[in-house]
Parts: sequence; C-alpha cells; structure tokens
Amino acid sequence: MNWHNPQLLRDWLSQPLLHRNSRPPEGSGIYVVSEQPWVDRPDAKAEVLWVGQARYLRDRIRRLVAEILGFTTETPGYAGSYYHNGGHKIWLYCLGQNKEPLDLFLGWHMGCACLNCAEAELIKALKPRCNSQRGNDCHEPGHPLSLQNNCPCMVP
Ligand SMILES: [Zn+2]
Repeated sequence: MNWHNPQLLRDWLSQPLLHRNSRPPEGSGIYVVSEQPWVDRPDAKAEVLWVGQARYLRDRIRRLVAEILGFTTETPGYAGSYYHNGGHKIWLYCLGQNKEPLDLFLGWHMGCACLNCAEAELIKALKPRCNSQRGNDCHEPGHPLSLQNNCPCMVP
C-alpha cells in the first residue's frame, strides 16, 4: 500500500461527485494534514500540521475536516473540540496565521502493520506543528516497530 496523493481541500471539497473515488477508505490507516503538497510520502518540506491514525479513516477524517473548517467549539471552559482535537487545533492555527483552511492538504495511508507505532514514528519524523504529544506508546510484544519494518513505503 502507498500514500494516497495529498488532496488540496479547496479542490477536493468543491466537487464531491467528481472526487468520489478519492474519499478516504472505510478501513484503518494513518492520515496527515500539511501546509504544502508532497510527492510519494510526506516529509519535512510538507510542513505537516497533524498526524493521526484511525480504525475508520472516512469517519475520522469527516470529523477532522468539519473542525478544520471551523465547525468547532469556542465556548470558554469547554475542553477541546466537538469531534476531533487535531481539527480544532488546526482551526486555531489557521486563525492565528490568517490562513484559509481550504489551502491545506490532506493525505492518508493504509496497510501499516501497527497504527500506534506508525503514528508515533511519523510524529517523531515529521514534527507536526499541532500534535502536542508524541503519539501513543505501543505495548504490543516486540514493538515499537520502525517505519521500515512497519510500512516500508513510508521511508525513502
Ligand atoms: Zn506497535
């Protein structure tokens, strides 16, 4: 499995029927939001804002995109977000930078042996601006897996 090409949100969301075959799959995987496009795999030049994992990518990314576009809470004292903490942080980042969220890129990847390890290793490698933690520690026997052993297409 490989990375799905990064989607510019402005284009991707403008014609849902045209792009119906570029929707996130319903299976599990890793996803990234970045400020720049990338080729083959996200790297430091992509200026990644968020790395996440999901058992159901389509559902998780639906929640993410809603929050990125501002469908998120501003109620004082309300901790975090409605649906997706990363989307909430990205919305706040865009407000601070006066950057239109539709200018961001979204990509995903399926086929890792272990999502927890992939997420943690990608956060280490890409240093996403809005992830506050380093990902979940993986307690599977013999883990953490390196990216090379987890999903070889994630390393050049
Ligand atoms: Zn693992």
